[in-house]
Amino acid sequence: MGNPMFNYNEALTDEIFEYCRERISKPVPLDFGSLSIDPLPDMGDLLSAEGRDPSDVLEFFRSKLTPHVVSMDSPEFLAFIPNAPTKNALLFDMIVACSGLNGTSWLESAGVVIAENQALSFLANRAGLPQGAGGAFVSGGSMGNLASLTVGRDVGRVRRPEIASSELRFAISDDAHSSVGKSLHVIGIEPLLVETDDHRFTREALELALANDPHPETVIGVVATAGTTNAGIIDDLEGLGSFARAHDLWFHVDGAYGGAALLSSSHGPLLAGIRHADSFVVDPHKWLFAPLDCAALIYRNPTVARKILAQQASYLDVLHSSDDEHYEWNPSDFAIHLSRRARGLPFWFSLVTNGTRAYETGVQAAIDLASRAATMIDEFDHVELVRPVSLSIVLFRRRGWSPEQYLEWSHQLLRDQIAFVTPSKWEGETVARFAFLHPDTTDELVRTILESMRD
Ligand SMILES: *Cc1c(COP(=O)(O)O)cnc(C)c1O
Repeated sequence: MGNPMFNYNEALTDEIFEYCRERISKPVPLDFGSLSIDPLPDMGDLLSAEGRDPSDVLEFFRSKLTPHVVSMDSPEFLAFIPNAPTKNALLFDMIVACSGLNGTSWLESAGVVIAENQALSFLANRAGLPQGAGGAFVSGGSMGNLASLTVGRDVGRVRRPEIASSELRFAISDDAHSSVGKSLHVIGIEPLLVETDDHRFTREALELALANDPHPETVIGVVATAGTTNAGIIDDLEGLGSFARAHDLWFHVDGAYGGAALLSSSHGPLLAGIRHADSFVVDPHKWLFAPLDCAALIYRNPTVARKILAQQASYLDVLHSSDDEHYEWNPSDFAIHLSRRARGLPFWFSLVTNGTRAYETGVQAAIDLASRAATMIDEFDHVELVRPVSLSIVLFRRRGWSPEQYLEWSHQLLRDQIAFVTPSKWEGETVARFAFLHPDTTDELVRTILESMRD
């Protein structure tokens, strides 16, 4: 008899599988998030020396905790950037959980790495990056940006040995994701904040900023966004990328949200400039229909990233001493992590089983819905577009509303379990925003939401 914690419990296994079956077979409830959480659930004597009956705790979790989470994968979740995992991806995630799969090194997890690398190569290929491009799946776009900019910084230090490290900068625009600014803060690099016309970072804007800057030589890299989170704007990837390459600047493309549009027949060509990227991030847990947490981090030249980011320790030497140098690929070498869940596998399984065409159709569906939503907005008098639709994001205003009215309306929609739509800001003004992503979001829902803003 070993430790009873490790005993197989058939009844609990059935209960948990039944719970999961229920979740994936029925429409996803939106639920209430924190709006309904008064009073707080009584966690009182849940934690004890003796432990509790798992069925009771599961029931507590189901009835007292999950209603206070807005389900990101509901087709009615249109706030922030939603998450819309396919059934195949969710099911495979259970396999990842139950198999103790490790995704750290080639020695331990070659079988995982081979599959994940197939998915990464697919994305690298669609991005037009050369053969040999690769990297690893990390927890999110934020971590992907941090790793990419760390590599870019160190490459810049070598390229500009005459400049003090503390003087080096990356050129970014005001509309770069907050995680880009945070990453630069972490790695001790100042931004050169480039002013843009209509929030799109272009080569002309960069050239102007450099021409007006007293120390343009301190700029070692450029960060472009392929689909800003707030508005879906695609920067001038072609112009910025070709400029960066011509001037030996690290070119990072943050496509955490919009990179998926590489698969769109209408918008894919707008992302062609990603082919210039030294590093590129796209989140399968956003618009590539995988569960959290999964971001693809891809380097044009992974060897450079490995030299900078691989962790060295005597107990790890064995990971780097394979005879099989040709194949050896340690995901741990490409980001700021060591132990790693095999988090790329649910995406890989979904991609391989559903096929690339289903992915293309799925991505296109959100873009097409955004454009139909814009048409509906044009038809109503009480709402109007704030700017043209970009990718699958729609920014619009309710004429005459104060910020408080937007907030109250947003809460009421959630209380009524119609949709989760949160206000955003555009040039200082509070506005409404749709972020479409789930292929099952309907035109009827969009119309109902617009109607709900009448009064
Ligand atoms: C969402 C997003 C991020 C952050 O990604 P996480 O996966 O949430 O860490 C970074 N950049 C852009 C453009 C995003 O949309």
